[in-house]
Amino acid sequence: MKTKTKPTFASAAIHGGKGKPDQYGAHTSPIYQTSTFVFKDVESGAKAFQHEEGGASHIYSRIGNPTVEELERAICALETYYVDEPEAYTGMAFGSGMAAISTGIISLAKEGHIIAQNDLYGCTSQFLKEEAPGMGMSVSFVDTSDVFLVELELKKHPETKLIYLESVANPTLKISDIRAIAQLAENHGALLMVDNTFATPYHIQPLELGAHVVVHSTTKYLGGHGSIVGGALVARKELLEEKGTFLYRKNLGGIAGPMDAWLTTNGIKTLPLRMKQHNENAMEIARWLENHPKVDHVFYPGLDSHPQHKLASSVMRNGFGGMISFELTGGYQAGVSLMNKVELCTLAVSLGSVDTLIQHPASMTHAVVDEEIKKAAGITEGLVRLSVGIEGVEDIITDLEQAL
Ligand SMILES: *Cc1c(COP(=O)(O)O)cnc(C)c1O
Repeated sequence: MKTKTKPTFASAAIHGGKGKPDQYGAHTSPIYQTSTFVFKDVESGAKAFQHEEGGASHIYSRIGNPTVEELERAICALETYYVDEPEAYTGMAFGSGMAAISTGIISLAKEGHIIAQNDLYGCTSQFLKEEAPGMGMSVSFVDTSDVFLVELELKKHPETKLIYLESVANPTLKISDIRAIAQLAENHGALLMVDNTFATPYHIQPLELGAHVVVHSTTKYLGGHGSIVGGALVARKELLEEKGTFLYRKNLGGIAGPMDAWLTTNGIKTLPLRMKQHNENAMEIARWLENHPKVDHVFYPGLDSHPQHKLASSVMRNGFGGMISFELTGGYQAGVSLMNKVELCTLAVSLGSVDTLIQHPASMTHAVVDEEIKKAAGITEGLVRLSVGIEGVEDIITDLEQAL
């Protein structure tokens, strides 16, 4: 991995989104909470529509908005921090992670085959299984944490246009070897798209490792405060133009709103600081849980017991993130009891907020899911998922201790 001296990643997080100062010299960027933009005259409007120079810079907020563009620059600066030609890349912000994922996949895999990881985020998996086939795409699922299986699948489907995976996957926190899979994709003329929501660019830089597109639910760590739903995508501008991704966003209509974009940009400014603490707290809690008699197994890429700890150490920087899953010895009932006893930890789905969120998939998110599907996804009766917050770590441990 290359390292850069200046500016640091922390500075890029704070200054990466900056645009021109506004007419009043506001220190914090204003929120351009507007649907449309006024043209000076007919000519400037006409030029804007033709993408000609000298035209109005903005037309309508479904196409582009200055507040949204600030967020796009901020995310792009972080996801391209270690790539060779950062100026060749661009970011696109969306109204949700699913809008970014679906718009990205629809534009990149048009009428082609997709090889997808077999334990993806639930809605991504549902989109690929239930919507994509009706849109002319075919999909096959493999365990992408095994590069050999990806290679076999590519041989079976030489027409593959897109490989889709999560850099750190839910709930077993499996890691895929992005570098090796990106090389396979190159060799087969396919693209690699990586959901980097769990890891964030603080820990994993998929574009540096060779991925073609990186996608996010900014709802999670990038926004960071549980106050918005949003998504983003970063890739080479040329690729997104060639694939028509900008047109798809305009016509499917999934762009982010200005208020949410502004909150997300603010969140990004503290991403490195927050991730440092999420990671430190999670490491300590993972070690503590591993020694707890009521805990059967802990899934955390930073532990030696994680089957891919070595790969995680080579793919991840600055530690291993803030997500932990663990299996209770007492099964389903122990899970329910823990959920009802926690006080500091908040009982909620989602992740990546400043506060600690806890959930028990078997009785909550996956209560109505078929046994077979749960088993395939690694959701067992006593599995608990913890999104470790940045509270004092001793307070989180005290709460878990009393609840266990
Ligand atoms: C939450 C999440 C999504 C979906 O994002 P939304 O913002 O809820 O639409 C996609 N991938 C991962 C890994 C997620 O955690």
